[in-house]
Amino acid sequence: MMSKRRQTLGLQILAALAIFMTVAYYIIPTPPTSSNTSSNNLAFATTSDDRHNTTTRVKAAFVILARNSNLDGVRQSMRQMEDRFNRKFNYPYVFLNDDEFTDEFKELTTSMTKARTLYGKIDTSHWGYPSFIDQEKAAETRKNMAHVIYGDSESYRHMCRYQSGFFFRHPLLDEFEYYWRVEPDINYYCDVDYDVFQMMKDNNFKYGWTLSLTEYPETIPTLWKTTKEFMEKHPEHLTNGPSSLRKWLTDDGFENYNGCHFWSNFEVGSLEFLRSQKYLDYFEHLDHAGGFFYERWGDAPVHSLAVAMMLPKEQVHFFNDIGYFHNPLMHCPTERYLQRNCHCPAEKNFDWEGWSCATRYKKLDPGFVWDEQTYRRKTDPYRI
Ligand code: GDP
Ligand code: MN
Repeated sequence: MMSKRRQTLGLQILAALAIFMTVAYYIIPTPPTSSNTSSNNLAFATTSDDRHNTTTRVKAAFVILARNSNLDGVRQSMRQMEDRFNRKFNYPYVFLNDDEFTDEFKELTTSMTKARTLYGKIDTSHWGYPSFIDQEKAAETRKNMAHVIYGDSESYRHMCRYQSGFFFRHPLLDEFEYYWRVEPDINYYCDVDYDVFQMMKDNNFKYGWTLSLTEYPETIPTLWKTTKEFMEKHPEHLTNGPSSLRKWLTDDGFENYNGCHFWSNFEVGSLEFLRSQKYLDYFEHLDHAGGFFYERWGDAPVHSLAVAMMLPKEQVHFFNDIGYFHNPLMHCPTERYLQRNCHCPAEKNFDWEGWSCATRYKKLDPGFVWDEQTYRRKTDPYRI
């Protein structure tokens, strides 16, 4: 039997514990909760020291394809990404190269961030000529296309084919479900203080873009014909009805491609989409048609045609709030509530210029530029 004194002591300890837990409940900060349903597994860093090992909420990474000679430009892009966004979120960087990265490149990029940095050499089976390509015909094409931008470049074609069909298959990306493509020598102008990846995932967005424009027709003479063949062969892969973005691609009832594409040097996207059978079937179909080498198909129109054919517009997001420059084009928010976080000149915004495709996009998705209220509602849950 317990003595009276020990019983009282036990009760006192219990009471003290209860008071402590009540106080702790109110003073220890809790992570913000999402207004959406699918994001309850939040994991936050507790101090700035352990950020290096933070488990981020979405399995996501920046992906930078670069050569060793791009070191300065990569550092410029990282500096801005860190300052504007990533110092708060610490998403890792994956660097890919068809050559071995030098120790200098690794050291001087790892030193730019507290986040993890991963370096991969691309396997020759992913970068180079597939067996069915006639390399003499490819060389002939390069001679004939010397007047077109990158028309005479062999490495540019390998790069475009890699970005179209392979980067998402690199083993270093296996652990990730979302990517944000970053290129050397770009500028980011706006503070982005909410978790972009979590916002994308919770809203089921599969592709995010910030600039759109028309392609040089000389680089893609048969891309549309080849894509139409694919649509006939695989109608099961297409999105139909009012959610379809396909009309964005043509001004004459699907006779010709108007060249509209998202500029793929900026992309935030779902790796799961790119790894899906429908995307792989499309890439395979294009690859065998030979246009990556016999013409000069870019990864931007390839990604964009796939997005517009396969994803419903509800899964495609325009990042109006991310001011961005890749030579020679700039997206700069013109709305006052967004300008407060930016330092770009709004008059240089390209969106509504002649060869931008935003006007055409608006016809299909009138609400694609979020108003302030929508912006707050969609991003506030992810702001830290
Ligand atoms: P542009 O944006 O179309 O003018 O083309 P870029 O020269 O910027 O190339 C697009 C991306 O591919 C950038 O991230 C480059 O660093 C990268 N890139 C282009 N060519 C090569 C190459 O031959 N090797 C590697 N490793 N990266 C490349
Ligand atoms: Mn570039």
